[in-house]
Amino acid sequence: MTYADAHCHLQDPRLAPHLDAVLRRAREADVAHIHVNATSEADWASTAALEGTPLAGGTAVRVSFGLHPWHAAGAAPGWPGRLRDLLLAHPRAGIGEAGLDGALPGGVGEEQWAAFRIQWELSVALRRPISLHGRRAWPPLLDFLLSQPPHPAGVLLHAYGGSPDALTALAAHNVCISLGGALANPANRRVRRVAAAAISGHFLVETDAPDMPPPAVPFSEPAQLPSTAAIWAGILAMPLADFAALTTSAFLRLFP
Ligand SMILES: [Zn+2]
Repeated sequence: MTYADAHCHLQDPRLAPHLDAVLRRAREADVAHIHVNATSEADWASTAALEGTPLAGGTAVRVSFGLHPWHAAGAAPGWPGRLRDLLLAHPRAGIGEAGLDGALPGGVGEEQWAAFRIQWELSVALRRPISLHGRRAWPPLLDFLLSQPPHPAGVLLHAYGGSPDALTALAAHNVCISLGGALANPANRRVRRVAAAAISGHFLVETDAPDMPPPAVPFSEPAQLPSTAAIWAGILAMPLADFAALTTSAFLRLFP
């Protein structure tokens, strides 16, 4: 039985002093697939350095390069061309973390939309999977996704916080969701409703490492994925082995 961490940030400087141990614990926990997301041009090189890091079972770390909505306003001119060049130099890389964030001061503004649209169009043109963040911006983000033709390579909505009612339409548009540490909070009924309504083949599990740590732990890491998977498998009343196989095959469809 192996697991796949669909969304994390192992390039985060907070993890740097622990990275060897984090990767060793991931291998020991049978986390055989890890997808690392860049957040701004400042971490593209450190993200690229992680691509191909060996994991359990002969697999290796996968990466995406992109511009997180938190960094859309500060991006240096010319970044779209440099992102395109980087993607062409890394033929297996995806695009991410991109998206919209309505919790930033001023909400989702034109700069966020512009950065998101540039990355969306690039992901369609280059046929690369795109990983999206949508905190407090799920309705406009879902409206956009559902107005588009199905994405040629697939979309991952990480830490999905939109309506469970949208999941069927999203799956038909080649959009998957992932959930992570929020599942560990029994009081979070909204995330449990989403988990219970997830569409088979269109859901993945994530740690968002180093963010969203379990209680009393300084940071999250891929080795914590099996416990999140066990919670979600319980919500679906599914054997953990079936859940691990289903989420791993969804991961491999998105990141072949
Ligand atoms: Zn993230």
